[in-house]
Amino acid sequence: MNNSIEDYPDKYELKQYLINETDQKNVVSINPYLILELLKLELLDLDFSNIEITIPSNDPLRALLHYNEKVVAIDSELREERKTFSILHEIAHYVLPTHFNRIFLCCESHMSIKTDMSNEKEANQLAADLIFHLLDKRANEYKLNSKNIKLIGNEYKASFEAVARRLVEKSMKKHMLVVYESFYNKHQKSSRVKYCIVSPLFKKHYHAQTIHDDNNKIANNLFEEKGRDISNSIIEETKIITPAEKTLTAKNEYFTNSYNVFRIITVK
Ligand SMILES: [Zn+2]
Repeated sequence: MNNSIEDYPDKYELKQYLINETDQKNVVSINPYLILELLKLELLDLDFSNIEITIPSNDPLRALLHYNEKVVAIDSELREERKTFSILHEIAHYVLPTHFNRIFLCCESHMSIKTDMSNEKEANQLAADLIFHLLDKRANEYKLNSKNIKLIGNEYKASFEAVARRLVEKSMKKHMLVVYESFYNKHQKSSRVKYCIVSPLFKKHYHAQTIHDDNNKIANNLFEEKGRDISNSIIEETKIITPAEKTLTAKNEYFTNSYNVFRIITVK
């Protein structure tokens, strides 16, 4: 039979197949080991610092797939939720039809939202779709705040950052998520916008997807507070100006997971 690309199942069908076949239709925190078993993939938990692979030094290897050997390997140093995501990302490379039989070496940057490699984006998307397969239908039942992000993250065994992103993407209200990173600016610690995510309604109303907000004072302060609980947030009201020069009052909630600072902007 001549297998054209149209003969392959789409991503939604792939996700459903993997969930149904492993009997996880009603399981909140998806078990990636059951999917590995279904696909007869072997998993190696390795200390990647001892493996010699040529990759950029500032972009550590997180996981790999050897398609022909049917082997997935992950960095044993990863935290549990990052392990789950990494395994599902490699499973996605294995099942996605356009990811041809080869070896995938997946670094931190490939599993980040900022990757511009289409294969990596697709693998990230399918991995997130699997993790949040039950959340998507219920996303709008939750008020978008740091307490619920913590609750859902613990329930779904997903990173708080991934949960925040997902809730904004699925929200039917006007939200923007701003993620800040800290960096040294002329030997002085400062913060800058790493990326922004907006809800569909926010984009439709304000035609904006990002804001410029480097050296934000609240973000700078939160970066100093390592170990501060994510639900211990700071709420303030500010005026924001849209690209169409309209001034709006918005509620801002700032919180941190110790790595990044997050700000959820809500416009009524
Ligand atoms: Zn990858």
